[in-house]
Amino acid sequence: MIPLLDLRAQYDDVGPEVEAAVIAVLRSGAYILGPSVEEFERNFAAFCGAEHAIGLNSGTSALHLALLALGVGPGDEVITVPMTFVATVAAIQYSGARAVLVDVDPETFVMDPAGLEKAITPRTKAIVPVHLHGRLADMEAISRIADAHGVPILEDAAQAHGARRDGKSAGVFGKAAAFSFYPGKNLGACGEGGAVVTNDAHVAKLVRQLRDWGQEGRYNHVMHGFNYRMDGVQGAALGVKLSRLGEWSRLRREVAAQYNASLENSLVKTPPLAKEDHVWHVYAVRTDRRDQLADHLREHGVSTGLHYPNSVHLQGAYAHLGYREGDFPVSEQLAKTFLSLPIYPELTPEQIARVTDAVHGAKCLQEGA
Ligand SMILES: *Cc1c(COP(=O)(O)O)cnc(C)c1O
Repeated sequence: MIPLLDLRAQYDDVGPEVEAAVIAVLRSGAYILGPSVEEFERNFAAFCGAEHAIGLNSGTSALHLALLALGVGPGDEVITVPMTFVATVAAIQYSGARAVLVDVDPETFVMDPAGLEKAITPRTKAIVPVHLHGRLADMEAISRIADAHGVPILEDAAQAHGARRDGKSAGVFGKAAAFSFYPGKNLGACGEGGAVVTNDAHVAKLVRQLRDWGQEGRYNHVMHGFNYRMDGVQGAALGVKLSRLGEWSRLRREVAAQYNASLENSLVKTPPLAKEDHVWHVYAVRTDRRDQLADHLREHGVSTGLHYPNSVHLQGAYAHLGYREGDFPVSEQLAKTFLSLPIYPELTPEQIARVTDAVHGAKCLQEGA
């Protein structure tokens, strides 16, 4: 069976180095924050071309603290998209603000700037574009609108480490950015992890305080804070993997290009290719017969995934936002038709061919089947 993602293949490559770095932390006793996290923060900030990176215990915490550092709270509105992982909307709710949703673009699956413009009100305190599947949102158009209204942008870059456009990386297009290092992300810890990236010294200082009980000096709690610190072993493991990330992104782009070339004349719709502004966390094709295709691929030894089968506005947990089926037709249609194929840097040409052969052989996609 070809897995959707093969973390063991990655470990075969980096395992010995990760183990050495992790053992050094275990022997040092610096289990929370400490030198390994500080070094990773410096290197990750440099990787993004940003001034500051603050290591946290998850991407969700990164979204939460970045919103608080931007001054978002009860009574405010934060605009994001329904076609995302639930964490984006959950973090807005953690801050006390109300999530206002706008649909995504049908071709690129990221925030539709025209919808954004219409959704802005005097209560809008932040805009959270999601770089879905690893593709940068339309940051030029979104920034123009945000600047015109004086509203800060928080990038949800949880899926887009190292995605670049015009020499800039995900993480520096807005006032702040949230990254996740969940193991399955393009840069994954050996457990949970996340970071806020920013060029704003004030935001960086606030996030550092908020992650560590709102302390300014030991036991001097100047604000209501949280226990959101990154573990030393995660900093060490991430530091090793970060040195490979550029190469891994290049390999992901190659896999995507091979899939697109091979599936061009198939009965599924392929995602539009992109240059460096896509790091292919997910490679999703579209078909009205998504479930049948998933069954067929499973029978032929290919795992698939759904990212995401339910748009957030239709989840029971967010019914109170007051949205209904039909409110975001593009997101709803994508949720019904997306099917994610295996993608990871170690995927071999033989495996890629097995996946695309299996798609071409899917009789269920044919008219009248
Ligand atoms: C993974 C993810 C998150 C949450 O990150 P965690 O580290 O799992 O908390 C937030 N937003 C998006 C788009 C994600 O993919």
